[in-house]
Formats: sequence, C-alpha cells, structure tokens
Amino acid sequence: MTPAFSVCVYCGSRTGESPLHADAARDVGHWIGRHSGQLVYGGGKNGLMGVVAAATLEAGGRVVGIIPLALVEKEWANDYCTELHVVDTMHDRKRMMAERADSFLALPGGIGTLEELFEVWTWRQLGYHDKPVGLLNVDGYYDSLIAFLQGSVKQQFMTEGLMNLIRISSDPQTLLQELVQAAGTAPPPHLESI
Ligand code: AMP
Repeated sequence: MTPAFSVCVYCGSRTGESPLHADAARDVGHWIGRHSGQLVYGGGKNGLMGVVAAATLEAGGRVVGIIPLALVEKEWANDYCTELHVVDTMHDRKRMMAERADSFLALPGGIGTLEELFEVWTWRQLGYHDKPVGLLNVDGYYDSLIAFLQGSVKQQFMTEGLMNLIRISSDPQTLLQELVQAAGTAPPPHLESI
C-alpha cells in the first residue's frame, strides 16, 4: 500500500538521560503509523532511532531503514523494517534518506543528528530541495542551540528568513501535522484529530 506521506526522522543513536526523549520518539512513531505514514530513518535499533521505528511499526506504519554496511553491527541494523537497505557509504545513506522522504524532522540527538539536520537545512537554503524541515524541541533540549542561532541572526551572519525555514515545536503532533501539510501530503482527514 502506498503510504499517505513519508517523513525522514533524524535522532539520537542513544536515548539520552531523560525518559521524555523516548516518550517523544514513541509519540512520533505512533503518529506516523496511525496516520498510515512512512518513516524513513537510519535503520538502526539503537537509542531513539530504535524507539521511533518500533513505535511506527506497532501503530501500523511502514518503516524504511537505510544503513551503511560499516554500521550494520555498530548500530544494530533493524531487520524488522518494512524495507531495510544496506548501502555502501554514509553519503549513499543520506542521499537515499533525503530522496525517500517528503519532509524532515530532527528529534534530540548528538553530532550525527545535528549534522543531518544542518545538511537538509542548508540544502533547502541552496534550493537543492523544497521539503519542509522540523525540529522537535523535547524538554528544552534545543533551547541553547535555538538561542545561538537567534544570536547569529542578530549578528547578521544569518537572516530571519533562513531561520524561518525550520519549523520548531515541542509538540510532536502539531509539528508532524504541519510538516505533512506543508509537504502537500496531509494525512487522511478522518484521522487528523487523533
Ligand atoms: P547521533 O545523533 O550522534 O547519536 O547519531 C545519529 C545517527 O546519525 C547515527 O545513525 C549516525 O550514524 C548518523 N550520522 C550521520 N552523519 C554522521 C556524522 N557525520 N557523524 C556521526 N554520525 C552520523
């Protein structure tokens, strides 16, 4: 069955200290699954990545995992994925993740997550794609990053317009709804209130 929409989620290969991060990752996966959507992600079972994938499957969604061969053991390649793609390089992984999704969402994570978020954001700025990008600020995790970026706008290294290319929210449902709508792939109307 063709999914109603396809969201690429970037998130930590660890779960972080607060249980609120895993709760939010679960909410994201459940929302995607309940709305007949597809998760595209890094293909591992570790950390928040594993949580979001398990929750999507549990709620009846499709999961596309894309993992470089060198990370199959380190990140525990997820053989429960609807589709698991083992690719040659990290560049192949990122390109395929970007191609298979119609919006991007970053959850809390480490440098891998940050690098992926900044890559799709800069690609959007450069016009390499026109897909919406979201940042889920769970429990204030990204407050200091957001403050830094706002400081960068103030110091005129960035424009307000560039800042506005990222949708930021602490509420998974609101943010996902916004992203799928902005991507032109709204979920089935009868499920919108869930
Ligand atoms: P992290 O947020 O550091 O826990 O990593 C989350 C995911 O980002 C993992 O699947 C990493 O393999 C992936 N990742 C993507 N690009 C990078 C990078 N340049 N350095 C480290 N991890 C990366």
